[in-house]
Amino acid sequence: MYGLSDEDLAIQARARSFADELIPFEVTAEMDGGDLPADVTAGHAKRAHELGLHSTNMPEELGGGGCSMLQVALVQEQMGRVTNALGWVAATPPSWLPPIATPYQLDNYVRPAIAGDREECYAITEEGAGSDVAGLEATARRVKGEGARGGNEYVLNGVKWHVTSYNTADFAFFQGVLADGPHAGEHAMFLVDLPSPGVTVLRNPAYSHTISHHHPIVEFADVRVPASHLIGAEGDGMTFAYEWFRFERLMVAARCLGAAERLTAEMTRFASVRRVSGRPISEFGTVAAMLADSLTELYAARSMVYETARGIDRGNDVKIAHAQCSMAKLYASEMAGRVADRAVQVFAGRGYMRENVAERFYRELRVERIWEGTSEVQRAIIAAQMAKRGPAALA
Ligand SMILES: Cc1cc2nc3c(=O)[nH]c(=O)nc-3n(C[C@H](O)[C@H](O)[C@H](O)COP(=O)(O)OP(=O)(O)OC[C@H]3O[C@@H](n4cnc5c(N)ncnc54)[C@H](O)[C@@H]3O)c2cc1C
Repeated sequence: MYGLSDEDLAIQARARSFADELIPFEVTAEMDGGDLPADVTAGHAKRAHELGLHSTNMPEELGGGGCSMLQVALVQEQMGRVTNALGWVAATPPSWLPPIATPYQLDNYVRPAIAGDREECYAITEEGAGSDVAGLEATARRVKGEGARGGNEYVLNGVKWHVTSYNTADFAFFQGVLADGPHAGEHAMFLVDLPSPGVTVLRNPAYSHTISHHHPIVEFADVRVPASHLIGAEGDGMTFAYEWFRFERLMVAARCLGAAERLTAEMTRFASVRRVSGRPISEFGTVAAMLADSLTELYAARSMVYETARGIDRGNDVKIAHAQCSMAKLYASEMAGRVADRAVQVFAGRGYMRENVAERFYRELRVERIWEGTSEVQRAIIAAQMAKRGPAALA
């Protein structure tokens, strides 16, 4: 089905069996604030590497999997079947970085991230700049280095919100507005080692999902980084963000497929064994419709995600890929939300218990319509491309 090659099927099967290994740990994680014992998490990370499921998106010559976009999506789809972000051990480090990284950045950040020795987080969003990344207020000012450090440095200032994985990461991508120089007012992105003097957590709010990765509000106050930590050139900041959004939006969509598949399977199984008034509930038309709608929408979303990934592998025009990734993210995330809602309804009282997969996904999937660009923003992107290129160019 779906025209997958033998190689595609092999990596998909490996990812599927790994997801099946992770699933039994979900309830423990849920009940313990998202955390598993450190040795268990380390064991899962080791397995992801052994199975070739970590860094599938990264170039082979740097130690990554060198997989096609379709294969990366197939792996992320399987990881999406697992709740509590336990599948995040099959990480996809920043694939936008190698083509523009300096040798220093490749050796100190990219290769270690691929090996699993380092982990990144993204400090982009601010209190007044989320959907509108162009509205960032954080600043970067170029200065002469002090004392033995010599050379040029940048001083970074700003307060960043929702910095996912700050508690597990050991470096951050920080995006800010250049305060002076020929590119004043344009964006630039920097690598900031964690911890670094001047970087502090202001607050660590609780979120709807129960995962071990936190999303604190982090202040960067006069944080000095050497000029070698500038990524690309001054003024490049936004370009990287767009490229990453494209990739991450498709991966969000892929993980939503996995979640919807798991939910559809679990509610179908339950509907066949739960008997009410002597009949399995799957025989009630209104319940059967929830099952049928869920599978139908999953089929549509999966076809869309696989085709979008194949288009990228074929080298489709980047603007078309951008709109298609938005369509895939929009449809798959909203589809998964509907499926989770139906699953809670089918499980009914059981579906409201935190030990039930439907309850966990019901909370966890909500953010898929928010991060990496809200549904409204995806619609705006799609509509803008429709106006420029015509609908036929996109679908
Ligand atoms: C759990 C979580 C983890 C996150 N992780 C990170 C991270 O690691 N790093 C990071 O930098 N950010 C992160 N984010 C931030 C995330 O990317 C933003 O929340 C998201 O982009 C939306 O921005 P906002 O919350 O500021 O919403 P706002 O921009 O304030 O939007 C408010 C409302 O206005 C609507 N709206 C905005 N613009 C438009 C428009 N043009 N057309 C129509 N409607 C519009 C939105 O759809 C929304 O309904 C995370 C967020 C969450 C919840």
